[in-house]
Amino acid sequence: MSLQNLSDEKLITDTKMWNEKEEYCTRQFLRHINEVNRRRLFCDDKTGSLFKYIRKNFNKSDSETSRRVLAAKTLRHVPCADKALANKQVTLTNLAEISNLVGNIKSGKKKNEILGSIKGKTQTQTRELVDKLTGVKRATRSKTRAHSDGSLRIHLTLMGETAKDYQFLKEQLSNKGIYKSEDIIGHAINSTAGLIRKKTIGIGSRKSKKLVNSRTISAAIKKAVITRSGNKCENCDSKYNLHFDHIIPYSVSKSSAIGNVRQLCSNCNSRAAIVALSQEKMDLYLNKS
Ligand SMILES: [Zn+2]
Repeated sequence: MSLQNLSDEKLITDTKMWNEKEEYCTRQFLRHINEVNRRRLFCDDKTGSLFKYIRKNFNKSDSETSRRVLAAKTLRHVPCADKALANKQVTLTNLAEISNLVGNIKSGKKKNEILGSIKGKTQTQTRELVDKLTGVKRATRSKTRAHSDGSLRIHLTLMGETAKDYQFLKEQLSNKGIYKSEDIIGHAINSTAGLIRKKTIGIGSRKSKKLVNSRTISAAIKKAVITRSGNKCENCDSKYNLHFDHIIPYSVSKSSAIGNVRQLCSNCNSRAAIVALSQEKMDLYLNKS
């Protein structure tokens, strides 16, 4: 039936009904992606993260995906947020805004208080509250645009200590002939990424142990695994949060030889442990993120 033939009253009633259905579906979607996350099922799809899994499999943009992933995270940390969302006391966007805040707080009471304080608030008011509680001031949101050649165009405003650190870096790096803002920021990003990778991989962080029949994976084996993997997760190709993993658990294989060691990102590592050990056992360690 064409909508053009509906009465005004019916059209308004139906529009409200479809909105209710859409909101219900969104809440169900959040519940389901949280369960997918608990099982780390996106690793079976070789996507390595819930965000990439949704982007790949569902027709959603980066911002739609990000909003859902972050709102779902809030639901994990503050279960009563589901009811607040159903009662239209909070929006999906506002739940997404507080996700990192409630994720970093241990007290359940405090998490509930934060949820209570955003009820009926606009996105701007919620963001201001988050800034106040975290002590981080954001003047404007950075705008990022990806180009087809792989480059990113970013508009951003640096505030407070970050602005001071930028000035400090500028002074220091100008001695090395680096004075353009894009080169200074590029240098800072590359240095930080290098430090994080080194920390994650742990190369050079401890003395090399040559034995392969030790639970400790030697530096030589780590280097050989990195050469094989291209320093990526050997399941999903992610470059972040990489770990070395015994393919057959050391307790069974008693081997840390290269054939029994692989590089996995933390999510694929968790998924492998869920499959090997059981969801129940791994629930004790997971779901903190
Ligand atoms: Zn992975």
